[in-house]
Amino acid sequence: MAVETRASAFQTAQRRFDAAADVINLPDDARRSLREVKRELTVHFPVRMDDGSVHVFTGWRVQHNISRGPAKGGIRYHPDVTLDLVKALAMLMTWKCAAVGLPYGGSKGAVAVNPSKLSMSELEHLTRRYATEISVLIGPEKDIPAPDMGTDPQIMAWIMDTISMHSGHSVTASVTGKPVDVGGSEGRVDAPGRGATYLTLEAIKYLHVDDETPTVAVQGYGQVGRSAAHLLSEAGMKIVAVSDSRGGVYNAAGLDLPALDEHRQVRGGVSGFKKADTITNAELLELPVTVLVPAAVQDQVTAENAGRIRARLITEGANAAVTPEADPILHDRGIFLVPDIIANAGGVIVSYFEWVQDLQAFFWEEEEINTKLHHVITRAFYEILHTSVNKRVDMRRAAYALAVQRVANATTVRGIYP
Ligand code: NAD
Repeated sequence: MAVETRASAFQTAQRRFDAAADVINLPDDARRSLREVKRELTVHFPVRMDDGSVHVFTGWRVQHNISRGPAKGGIRYHPDVTLDLVKALAMLMTWKCAAVGLPYGGSKGAVAVNPSKLSMSELEHLTRRYATEISVLIGPEKDIPAPDMGTDPQIMAWIMDTISMHSGHSVTASVTGKPVDVGGSEGRVDAPGRGATYLTLEAIKYLHVDDETPTVAVQGYGQVGRSAAHLLSEAGMKIVAVSDSRGGVYNAAGLDLPALDEHRQVRGGVSGFKKADTITNAELLELPVTVLVPAAVQDQVTAENAGRIRARLITEGANAAVTPEADPILHDRGIFLVPDIIANAGGVIVSYFEWVQDLQAFFWEEEEINTKLHHVITRAFYEILHTSVNKRVDMRRAAYALAVQRVANATTVRGIYP
């Protein structure tokens, strides 16, 4: 009997690449090189814990492609991370940067660790040693890390300081997502939610949605989801439902977000908010709203529930919130998708602005950052839309096809060394 084996994360990433390569008829030579990562570094390093014992951790830094510029990609601290996953995420970063036209390649790093189990001192020692181990690969002209799951601006500051100590001078452009005090950028924290907001407003315009007040449901009221909810509300839309890992709240007349934020601060979540009904995360996804913003975790809109989604459009705030099997179902039902690769690209776009500001040692005000973000992300949206209409493919395949074409062009024109 044949045994069905689940594809690994990297195999899935390669499959998405293959589908995009088919759309643009990419020649075999280019396919073979772009299907693999350029470099993968595995490091095992000791850290002395607070109780005096020594623990050996494993970490990685992977660069998928650097044809269009230095590699760019976050660092994840999570106990279940594997080299296979880091390779998949590095490849995704190449396409994400190319899709929005940033002069970067793609990379990703990780340490297999649960950061919540470490003291601040242990976390700092682990971070500084990991940064030292991967310092053969990273640097402002080579590969620029940023925060991802389990890492934050403080961790970025330690990495920047470690690289600076090795160099004998401050190298602020070595990392992005830093605190503003050490060369971080204004507007970085809200950037993914702001980018998702700009694209939602463009999609509504493109689709000629004529609802008097478009309604929104946001799954995952965290960094991305909360920013998007507030900014969409400021733009005149009605936020009727939000959720977090413990469940959701719904009020057809619109949620009072400042009151909800106060409740969340006291209660640690949105559940139990008095001025709304309680709903589950599954129910939230199927509400009759204009816009659905899944901004929590992957695999939320699947082949099982895609047929019941009633939103007119989905802005995919969380990476891979819609599964590959759900994509065609939504497309056939006329539900417009703003795919993750651009929907949450506001983060890497403002990271790019941070790097540029650090390199020139001249900093912009938040208004200027937001204007530039709007320009870059809206341009990408219309380029992808154009590709989607011309090639008759859904928005996700169009985004990938455009990105893969750009990377293939750069790789081909540079030629094969030597
Ligand atoms: P976060 O931890 O700040 O927020 C996540 C929210 O989702 C929380 O409210 C959490 O309670 C909720 N949640 C967790 N599991 C859930 C579940 N099973 N069902 C419903 N809700 C659940 O994280 P974030 O930074 O907002 O990231 C959200 C997504 O956006 C992730 O996929 C992340 O990779 C992606 N993303 C984040 C950034 C960024 O800069 N923060 C940038 C690009 C992409």
